[in-house]
Amino acid sequence: MQSRLLRCVECDEIINMTEHDFSVEYYYDEENERFIEHPKDDRKSFITGHRGHDIEELRVNKATYVSDRPYSEPLKTGYFEATNGRETFVIKKYRDTIESPITYELINGHIEIVSVELKIQNEEIRRQIRTEISPPISEDKITRLMWVMQRVVSQLNANILLHDSLESDNPLISYCKLDNRSLEDMIELGKDIFEKEEFKKIRDFIYANSGHDGVMAPLVKRQFAIKNFCQTGKRVQVKQGMLS
Ligand SMILES: [Zn+2]
Repeated sequence: MQSRLLRCVECDEIINMTEHDFSVEYYYDEENERFIEHPKDDRKSFITGHRGHDIEELRVNKATYVSDRPYSEPLKTGYFEATNGRETFVIKKYRDTIESPITYELINGHIEIVSVELKIQNEEIRRQIRTEISPPISEDKITRLMWVMQRVVSQLNANILLHDSLESDNPLISYCKLDNRSLEDMIELGKDIFEKEEFKKIRDFIYANSGHDGVMAPLVKRQFAIKNFCQTGKRVQVKQGMLS
């Protein structure tokens, strides 16, 4: 869908012009049991409210989008950066209720990734081993395997892993892929835990689940903060992104 993000330079107000501005919405009138046409007038009210003001178009940097909620969550608040070519702004995007239109708000500042954490999918690996391998492997051995995996993964650089990653439903969580070297290291260390047939099964398990969509894929979890400048020029933080 085509859309254009416009900023009133004087009021610092934002409107996202989309095809929807011309569309009609329907509301169900329960009392009279019928639908009522309700033309949207987002664009009209913006144009009327900012008549004679300087309006400029902002270019959106989609790669900067962050939110502490999944993409599929309708009531989330998201942030992204947009620029007029000279200055960069943070645009806050949210809606108060499912029925209300999306609101765009301009924040003078920038989005900062404040932490990047690399994790293995502990529970998923454990569950998958129980499902795939029989006779069952003792929980104690699986726990020791987890330590080994965590140790190997902790040596890796999350920012490099992100170059070849798969986005999840949450913009702050990505699935990465282990390189052969890491897989081999895990298998080598596994020799201290498993023997013979059991070792072979674990080795095959590690290779078979090593893709982006496999349970061996480490997760990169990021946290963000919106940093801006208050009037005294002191740096303040207005929003900290938290992960559940
Ligand atoms: Zn204005």
